Amino acid sequence: MIDYDVKGKLHGVLSHLPQGVRLVAISKYHPNEYIEAAYEEGQRIFGESHEQELRLKHETLPQDIQWHFIGHLQTNKVKYIAPYVTMIEAVDSLKLLKEIDKQAAKCNRVIDVLLELHIAEEETKYGLTPDALRQLLADGEWREFSHVRICGLMMMASFVDDMEQIRSEFRLARSLFDEVKTQYFADKDYFCERSWGMSHDYPIAVEEGSTMVRVGTTIFGPRVY
Ligand SMILES: *Cc1c(COP(=O)(O)O)cnc(C)c1O
Repeated sequence: MIDYDVKGKLHGVLSHLPQGVRLVAISKYHPNEYIEAAYEEGQRIFGESHEQELRLKHETLPQDIQWHFIGHLQTNKVKYIAPYVTMIEAVDSLKLLKEIDKQAAKCNRVIDVLLELHIAEEETKYGLTPDALRQLLADGEWREFSHVRICGLMMMASFVDDMEQIRSEFRLARSLFDEVKTQYFADKDYFCERSWGMSHDYPIAVEEGSTMVRVGTTIFGPRVY
């Protein structure tokens, strides 16, 4: 038994999501019992940001869980998650995309990925600036990668209290999504994901066109590092 109401919190978040918006339950730093509590309520998509932690959880938890890797991924770690990961959300370089393609090919898989945008004001955050995103796509090498499927964009808004700033960042992300969709993926139905929205801003993200929110703290409580 856990003394935290994962079930109630999970349903609270789900009740705020319109049809067509999926929840990635961010379980990093939380023990298996918390994930199992959400799993029992039907939640199947979970997000983790550290390779070793994810590996342990993948090995010990139900095999029909869809794991999203949401953190910064070093190229030398790709091979460990390639056999089983469902989606790699934070691809921010051609080099990483190329490595995912290579490791996915070895596993005979096609791995879904998102390109991570950097819009937030914090300098420490990873991701592609709007121009770097345009450059990566214009460059065209990604078209040769047959073992990755670029399914959309992911971003984190600035961690600020100013909700209008957050909203404007989501709007910029949305307009970049539309631009890239039109220019490169108009005929690709799978390019449809806009992964934005975390505990403190997911209701705004949903209003601004998110298709996938990544919520941790609101469901599982504060993380103990
Ligand atoms: C930790 C994390 C989240 C979840 O953040 P909460 O504030 O706990 O909801 C979402 N996205 C990414 C990339 C994260 O690293």
